Amino acid sequence: MLHLLAISPEKQSGGREIQVLAMMGIMASNPHLNHQSRTARTTVICLLRWAKFWRMLAWLIGAWTFSTACAMETVEVEQSGGKFKIRGEIVVEAVDGGMILRDRQGKLWPLKPEEIKNRVTDEVPFSLMEAAELGKEILKQLPAGFSVHKTKHYLICYNTSKAYAQWCGGLFERLFRAYRNYWARRDIAISAPEMPLVAIVCKDKQTWRRIAGPEVGTAVDTIDGYYNLITNRIATYDLTANPKSVARSTTSRNISEINRLLSQPQAGQLVATVIHEATHQIAFNCGIQQRLSDVPIWLHEGMAMFFETPDLRSKKGWRGMGDINLNRLQQFQNYLQRRPDDSLYTLIANGNRVQGRSEDPRFQGNRGALDAYSEAWALTYFLITYEQDAFVNYLKFMSEKKPGRAESEPQKIEDFESFFGDLKSLDQAFVERMQREIKRNARRFR
Ligand SMILES: [Zn+2]
Repeated sequence: MLHLLAISPEKQSGGREIQVLAMMGIMASNPHLNHQSRTARTTVICLLRWAKFWRMLAWLIGAWTFSTACAMETVEVEQSGGKFKIRGEIVVEAVDGGMILRDRQGKLWPLKPEEIKNRVTDEVPFSLMEAAELGKEILKQLPAGFSVHKTKHYLICYNTSKAYAQWCGGLFERLFRAYRNYWARRDIAISAPEMPLVAIVCKDKQTWRRIAGPEVGTAVDTIDGYYNLITNRIATYDLTANPKSVARSTTSRNISEINRLLSQPQAGQLVATVIHEATHQIAFNCGIQQRLSDVPIWLHEGMAMFFETPDLRSKKGWRGMGDINLNRLQQFQNYLQRRPDDSLYTLIANGNRVQGRSEDPRFQGNRGALDAYSEAWALTYFLITYEQDAFVNYLKFMSEKKPGRAESEPQKIEDFESFFGDLKSLDQAFVERMQREIKRNARRFR
């Protein structure tokens, strides 16, 4: 059985304690810990709440244990004055009785010991919901008027036109196929997801606020999509209803008209946002990265940005995959004018985050975050293009990272250098290469 967190049973019996209580405090205060994108003119900022997520991980250093059982657990929970039962499998368990449970819809539940009123282990093995059952359950959680469109790997839950849901399904499937093929050609196997990948697609801003508001708060009016790390779902809305994207068209659209509208240059960044979030979802569900593992942010984000350039012209392929991302390159050009000498070091080590002293300064504030994103993209592009074998091996190494374990700053640097060599030499080669790319592409900048 493929675990969501891909922990092999023989490696789960470390017997070490988990200090999950502190972690759950953070998670409980952010019950919808998520990963979201904000469209700021032409640039996507993801990651608004990642820093808290990583700080949470920092408290887990050296103290965790994973469940070896795949049995179904029924847990009676009391939270915020209400009582309810959750059926799922234990992903991580603390000696103080706290735990992270994964329910049959794939949602993670961090539970403090005092919230757990009773628990019973069934004889029945744990199983995730099949598509039909999952679809029905999700519809119960959404406002009236939603339907489900099923594709090979996705459940699109929508109240848009059927054509728009089909357009989304087609886009995600093409992304999935292109992503899998891209890595297969580089000797990385993308596994099939354990369960359908869920996307919630809202017809207008009103529905969007109702669905996304409780998860992302006030950011709801400035973002166009997000991936929720806890529910494992992505959410977005009908981009053709966004005045930024296109001249509004008729209400009864077919797929080719939607494609035409969203192929316009002004819609490119909106579509890129959705692709970006869908890429995160694929990575977390198909063996590239594990939810709750300490994979560096630059790598998470660099990978998503590497694939975010949409190619709506092709119905089968994805010709733009891995192309230069002009928005990011232009931002990186800007950043190079004030880039400090230790920029690569801080991007890779993210020391403050790991040590839990403060939130990661590289991804704070609009200006700083844009710089960090541009450098994360540039580094990923550089490594995939010019250090491909080492990058593939590094990616495989990172995919093995276990949930709940955070590495120290020196360890992260050591790991990185073991694949790519001395950081200083690499930094020099990196900057030189990217300056050549800037020169080559500058005429295309806005
Ligand atoms: Zn992202």
